[in-house]
This record gives sequence, C-alpha cells and structure tokens, in this order.
Amino acid sequence: MIENLVAGTRSATTSGKSQPVFNPATGEETDTLGLSSVGDVGAAVAAAKAALPAWSNTPPAKRAAVMFRFNTLLQERADDVAREISREHGKTHDDALGEVQRGREVVEFCCGIPQLLKGEFSRNVGPGIDSWSDRQALGVCAGITPFNFPAMVPLWMYPVAIACGNTFVLKPSERDPSAVMFVADLLHEAGLPSGVLNVVHGDKVAVDALLDHPDVQAVSFVGSTPIAEYVYRRGTEAGKRVQALGGAKNHMIIMPDADLDQAVDALMGAGYGSAGERCMAVSVAVPVGEGTADALVAKLRPRVEALKVGPADDSESEMGPVITADAKLRITSLIDAGVEAGAQLVVDGRSISLQGYENGYFLGGSLFDHVTTDMRIYQEEIFGPVLAVVRAADYNESVTMINDHEYGNGTAIFTRDGDAARAFANDIQVGMVGINVPIPVPVAYHSFGGWKRSLFGDHSIYGPEGVHFYTRLKTVTSRWPTGIREGAVFTFPTH
Ligand code: NAD
Repeated sequence: MIENLVAGTRSATTSGKSQPVFNPATGEETDTLGLSSVGDVGAAVAAAKAALPAWSNTPPAKRAAVMFRFNTLLQERADDVAREISREHGKTHDDALGEVQRGREVVEFCCGIPQLLKGEFSRNVGPGIDSWSDRQALGVCAGITPFNFPAMVPLWMYPVAIACGNTFVLKPSERDPSAVMFVADLLHEAGLPSGVLNVVHGDKVAVDALLDHPDVQAVSFVGSTPIAEYVYRRGTEAGKRVQALGGAKNHMIIMPDADLDQAVDALMGAGYGSAGERCMAVSVAVPVGEGTADALVAKLRPRVEALKVGPADDSESEMGPVITADAKLRITSLIDAGVEAGAQLVVDGRSISLQGYENGYFLGGSLFDHVTTDMRIYQEEIFGPVLAVVRAADYNESVTMINDHEYGNGTAIFTRDGDAARAFANDIQVGMVGINVPIPVPVAYHSFGGWKRSLFGDHSIYGPEGVHFYTRLKTVTSRWPTGIREGAVFTFPTH
C-alpha cells in the first residue's frame, strides 16, 4: 500500500478508499494507493504549518545547502528514479532519465536561492530615511500534478517553494505515485526537516480539500485544461494565489525552405516520444505549400511505420505504452473519429500486439494527412502517439491557424529564413516558441508557461517566475531618531 508522507513519516489514509496502480506495459496491478480524506489533507496541512516558522527563518544559504545535497543525490540515484518512473508510467528508461535531469536542473537553480532572494536597498529616500524591498515566503503552498512527468513536474514546484522558505503539500497523480515518494525520501536524506514537504495521495476529494483549506496560501497545478480552469476558479475564489497550467495542441510549421530531414527527425521525436504524452509534444505538423506537404508525408510514413514500440527496459524501444487502458480506448476512438471525419489515415497504429505484453496498453504510431481545422482530431488534445498533418497554403494561413487555436502552450517553425523565423517569434500567440527546435521547454533558469487556455493565472512555473509566485514583496521605509523633530505632519509625505 502506498501511503501519505506527513511530518516526515509514512501515514495510512483514513478514507477507507483505495485504488490500484498498474504497470502499463503488462497491465498488471503492481500496488494499491490509499486515497486521502479531507481529514488526511488537513493533517498534512497542519504538519506543513507547524514546520513553517523554523523553516522560513532558516537562513537561505542553509536552505540552499539542502538543495545542493538533494541535487547530488538525484544525480547519484537518477537510474533508480528513472526505473520508478517507467514502472508506473511506461516511458523508456532513457526518456525517464531525461525527465529526471530536467527536474534536477530546477533543484540546481534553487541552489542559488540566496542570490535570487536578494532585495533592493535605497539610502536617503528622504532625510535620514532608508528604504528596502525584499520578497518573503507565502506560507503553506500546495501542488497538484499530472501523470505524464511523475518526477519532473513536482520538481518544477516544491524545490522552488521550499527554497523560498515555504512549506509544501503535494498531491501527485494517482496513476504513477511511486517516483514522487522515492524522490521525497532523497530530499529528506539531504537534510530537509520533517513537515517541510508532505505528500497526500488521492483524487478530487484531496484536491478540493487543498483548494478550500484556509491555511493553504498558494496552489500550483499542472494537468488538463478543464481541471486547470476549475482549480484556478475554486482556488482564487478561496483567496489563494493560483497558477494552473493546462493542456496543449502544439503545431510545428515546416516552411518550403526547411531542411526536411531535420524536420522529420524533429517530428518523430516530438510527436511520438513518450507515446505523445507530453504537454510539449508536437501533435500538428503544418507544412506550407502542397509540395512541402507531399514530400514531408512521403518521408514521415516509413519512419512512423518503423517506430519501435516496446517496454521501458528494452533498450531498443523508442516508445512505450500509454498510461491506462482507458487512455488507450480514448485515443483509438479519437482516431476512429478522424477517419469518420474524412482525414486520411496514412499509418494506423490502433492495433498492435507485442509478444509477452498482450495485456499492456501499447499503441503504434498513427499519422493523419489532410486533417482540417473543423475536425475533433485537430481541435482536441489527443495526448497519444498521433500526428496530424494540416496543410497550409502559405505562411500567413499557418500563423492564423495557430493563433486561432484555443491552446497556446508550445510551437515551432522549421525554416532557413531568418525573416520568417523572426516574424513568427513576434506574431505567434503561444508561450514557448522553437525555431528549428521542436520541443522548446525552457531551461530551469528561464520559466515555463503557455498562453491562452494553456495557463490560468499570472505566473509561469519555475525559474524567476517561480520565485515570484512563491514569494511576496515587502517594502520597508525606516528612519532612526536623529534629534530632528518635524512635529505632526498632516500633508501627504513627500520627503
Ligand atoms: P488531469 O487533469 O487528469 O490530472 C491532473 C491532476 O488533477 C491529478 O493530480 C488528478 O488527480 C487531479 N484531478 C483529476 N480530475 C480532477 C477533478 N475532477 N477535480 C480535481 N482534481 C482532479 O491530467 P493528467 O491526465 O494527469 O495529465 C495530462 C494532462 O496534463 C494533459 O492535458 C497535458 O497537456 C497536461 N500537462 C500540461 C503541462 C503544462 O505544463 N502545461 C505539463 C504536463 C501535463
């Protein structure tokens, strides 16, 4: 049974409810997850609140020292963390290692927290008066995370919050909760005091309890757009600061002058890596001009047909299973809908069977051509190994298409034309833009966030925006007695 982590110890949930955890490669039930009650969440928040005074008053350099040790442990144990990820998520070992590294880089960023929290000081803002501003921790913060990056997305949140002096309650995905527990143990091994990071497992009950709890000051959410919007509304109505990152439909434009082989390599990795279950996956290819489109599809087809689908521990695997039997069903029914709507299914990945893994949730790669913007497979996030080709007559049509889509997470353009690339970076209504880079996930010292219905709230996540999200500004104006008396002043102070 996978239990909560409250005040540094494992603690059983009290709701009496649990749910199975599966290995998506085999379909086997590997563990059981206890689901938290409102009271269980309350206990975790109480533990975080109790740990807050000592932790927020711990010098930032000492908090950074914990992050330094945590960073080292994550480096040393990366293989083990990756195995925990793959066992419940299904992604290949190398892909999981990449996830661990990108998460660890946020921890590395947090090692610089004394510098990041340094304030501003102005001497003599008035006679004998000085003024300084600095950013202080908010208090107890909470995070709610999705299944697709079970280690990395939580690492986008709690290291930054904790380094800033907050304490934290994390509610990971119920589908692959073990990696979070493994990494939380490493953080405690690095010297984190009990109660600074707490983990509650659960479903909507646990999420709502966090959103409603008066002692939770801020909530970070990453997941699908309908839930992101819900979390944002409910959390802000309860007076909390909320950043809620949602779903995506990431387009990649291929201009006629692009290096087509480079573009095809990029589309294979960005479209089918991690079985398309990345919020920065490219799910729409937009070749500009019929000639570009014909050449692109001709090159893509054999590559998609040759994709090596297999379990995570097979070093030959390029793509693992999808997360659940339900997800597999949802993806295949969306492919059905695409065929019914008249799109051309160039490669059909709906029915593959792997010897020894017949009960796993595997899908082959699927490729659609002649997709139009009125189709469900264009409008909805499929979150599976399905790439849709939407042909555009010219550059302007491709840009309008992207700007009209409800999501604005990531996008890319492949071109050799500097003018087109520069115009694209300027005009596109999307938060993260790649120029000949297919998955432009910002590094840890920048910040990650989409536009439109891919992000609710004012702050992107991690990096400088993360530090801003988890802190608030205080400005102090100070004067020491100098013997000069002004008497009572009734006009507005002008110094
Ligand atoms: P999800 O929205 O189903 O779940 C995310 C979290 O919300 C989980 O912890 C889950 O327990 C909780 N949740 C689910 N239903 C809820 C409800 N009704 N009320 C309250 N809480 C609820 O997302 P998922 O399927 O785990 O992850 C995939 C989605 O996440 C995709 O849409 C993907 O694009 C998105 N995602 C976005 C980013 C980003 O940075 N924008 C990153 C990763 C994933």
